[in-house]
Amino acid sequence: MKKEFLNERIETMSPEELRPIQEEKFLKQIDYVWEKSPFYQKKFKEHGVERADIRGLEDLPKLPFTEKDELRKSQEGNPPLGFHCAAPMDDIIRIHSSSGTTGVPTFVGITRHDQKVWTEITARSLFAKSVRPTDVVIHAVGLTFFVGGLPVKDAIEHIGAAFVPIGTGASDRVVMTTKRLGGNVLHCTPSYAQYFADYVRKKQNLEPSELGFRKLVVGAEPGGGVPAVKKRLQEEYQCLLSEGMGNSDAAPIIFGECPAQQGMHFCAQEYIFPELINPDSGEVMEMKDGAEGELAYTLLDRECCPVVRFRTRDRITVFAGPCECGRSSFRIRCIGRTDDMLIVLGVNVFPSAIKDVITSFRPRTTGDIVVLLERPGPKVEPPLRIQVEYSQGEKDLDALKKELETVLRDKLVFRADVELVPEGTLPRFEMKAEYIRKLYEE
Ligand SMILES: [Zn+2]
Repeated sequence: MKKEFLNERIETMSPEELRPIQEEKFLKQIDYVWEKSPFYQKKFKEHGVERADIRGLEDLPKLPFTEKDELRKSQEGNPPLGFHCAAPMDDIIRIHSSSGTTGVPTFVGITRHDQKVWTEITARSLFAKSVRPTDVVIHAVGLTFFVGGLPVKDAIEHIGAAFVPIGTGASDRVVMTTKRLGGNVLHCTPSYAQYFADYVRKKQNLEPSELGFRKLVVGAEPGGGVPAVKKRLQEEYQCLLSEGMGNSDAAPIIFGECPAQQGMHFCAQEYIFPELINPDSGEVMEMKDGAEGELAYTLLDRECCPVVRFRTRDRITVFAGPCECGRSSFRIRCIGRTDDMLIVLGVNVFPSAIKDVITSFRPRTTGDIVVLLERPGPKVEPPLRIQVEYSQGEKDLDALKKELETVLRDKLVFRADVELVPEGTLPRFEMKAEYIRKLYEE
């Protein structure tokens, strides 16, 4: 594998070399937060911790976690950006909003300095995902509000690749620009990549592989890391798929998967300090190979809306050890979000894992699913009701239902009640997929 980096020094640095750089930035940032963020002044005081108690990163666990809900309340209490906004509006150059997957969306502002930092982290992640200056990137992701839009434009331009802003709901334009401009990278959500594959086949009478993409660059939801989904997309498009992951309160893309495909590399080395925590107890866990937990972020270089020990609710598995691409940072795979997790008789079940099992049954199923919830989760009484699309040619539906239920029980350890529905029944998504349908009034 060719070893190529956007910032070779920092991306190949050993943890021992990186640590002092993170320490220095952390202390500077914590001074800034203590001085400028009314939200943290109050929070730290209530937690009984003083500035002098924090002498370095080893003292980070003395500080309390920050929950998304607190940021939402902080914003309601002190509009527009909240008590956690630490920069004057004069210095703010752009305001984004969180994708609002849970509850009311929150706004996130950035200063010119924050924009530079976002661009660097996002570009590093995209470069790890093999975006190069010679590429023509077809951007089939929304450009408004969402941090996966304009900040990605900045990052792709920073790399020197050509950015083609299409947005969503314009698949005919994706086909046209790909052909006319020689687009060779498709940037979209994994849900869109699946939707678009069906679209070109049905509406354009083309195989997705005929479009000539060299690379599928996906993110914004866990699909790209779901093995059966990834396999399907790579086969359909006949090219490599790389996934990425970010967080609207931290940075647009923080992790990027290199061609070795052994998880996504952490690409915010000197800008974000990540912690792996036990999602139930909050205890800090070692970022070692095979460890599973939730990610928390402490921003090390942020002016507008700095966050400290921010709980992402992203559940991840860690891959450590050397990678053949030469990057020294740890890698992760996202297994789901706490908000989507269901608990069936004490067993944690993520919709993306169900999606993986059902997709592995292609072509007998289309891979599309919906989990039906009769009562608010996360606890669900078995059997868990799942609607699954069967493909047109499938004849023996009773046998398929039994097989799916058996494999779900064997692999994910819960009892399912699979309802087979004809191909084309379930909704398709051009942005993020929603795998859970609530049958109750909220
Ligand atoms: Zn790598």
